[in-house]
Amino acid sequence: MSDTIQRFTFAKLPIRGEIITLEQSYQTIVEQHQYPQAERQLLGQALAANALMAEIIKIEGKVALQLQSQAAVKLLLTECTHQGHIRGLTHINQDMASSELDFHAWTRGGQMAITIEPEQGKRYQGVVPLENTELSSCLEDYFNRSEQLPTFIQLFVNDDKVSGLFLQALPANSQNEVSPEDKAGAFEHVKTLAETLQPEEALSLSHEDLLYRLFHQDEVTLYPEKPIAFQCNCSRERNERALKTIEPSELISMVQENDGNLELVCDFCSNTEVFSEEDIMTLLSSNAPSDSIN
Ligand SMILES: [Zn+2]
Repeated sequence: MSDTIQRFTFAKLPIRGEIITLEQSYQTIVEQHQYPQAERQLLGQALAANALMAEIIKIEGKVALQLQSQAAVKLLLTECTHQGHIRGLTHINQDMASSELDFHAWTRGGQMAITIEPEQGKRYQGVVPLENTELSSCLEDYFNRSEQLPTFIQLFVNDDKVSGLFLQALPANSQNEVSPEDKAGAFEHVKTLAETLQPEEALSLSHEDLLYRLFHQDEVTLYPEKPIAFQCNCSRERNERALKTIEPSELISMVQENDGNLELVCDFCSNTEVFSEEDIMTLLSSNAPSDSIN
């Protein structure tokens, strides 16, 4: 399997980790939009980071990352569900974008948020400060500030693959009574080792080999692979529901202005649904009071 995420733990250290590789899903998503290289890299990093966070937050539902700025990145939006379904898109101001990805410059003055949307229960949104040079370090900051959990994130990306490593100090609990000094020491230890990881290694080694290369002296347990796949939840029915929210007379003039065919393109996957004037009329008549009585 090429696209997987795996958790890992250390037998003697109060630290948890995750490792991810995206290949097919990443390629599918970037090819839907024919993004230039630097945009592919930005989106690849965000997709991997989003999946790593969804796995650590562990809710039944959806975790999304959203970034907006007046600089090169107009919009960056990714989502990952607990089933491992990811999708994402980015809109770039081409005249403000350098040919090489420069996260800090590309997002200057912008706002980033993480949204946690459980299937049951309340939606939560947290602000991710954009004060660091990389997406990974901005997200580390988020965990450090919002949960006071030291976190280390590495993201590596090339044209057809993304690899990511996530390390986090475990929240304190009864089974994990270590002094703050020992905890900080343990975290520094694994972080120092992880920092030796080179992009070529991260993008070529299997998860098992990579963890052995970094932590073979620290008794790591690697948990089973969870598949990650691209999946968009757009559908004709969703489009119909969206169209029904438009004022009928406005909808009819929209379809007439478009030569009798309204094309709705999904921003995520570029799937196109065409609604003819006849389709629109059928849709509107299904809204009629005589129907809703039945
Ligand atoms: Zn779609």
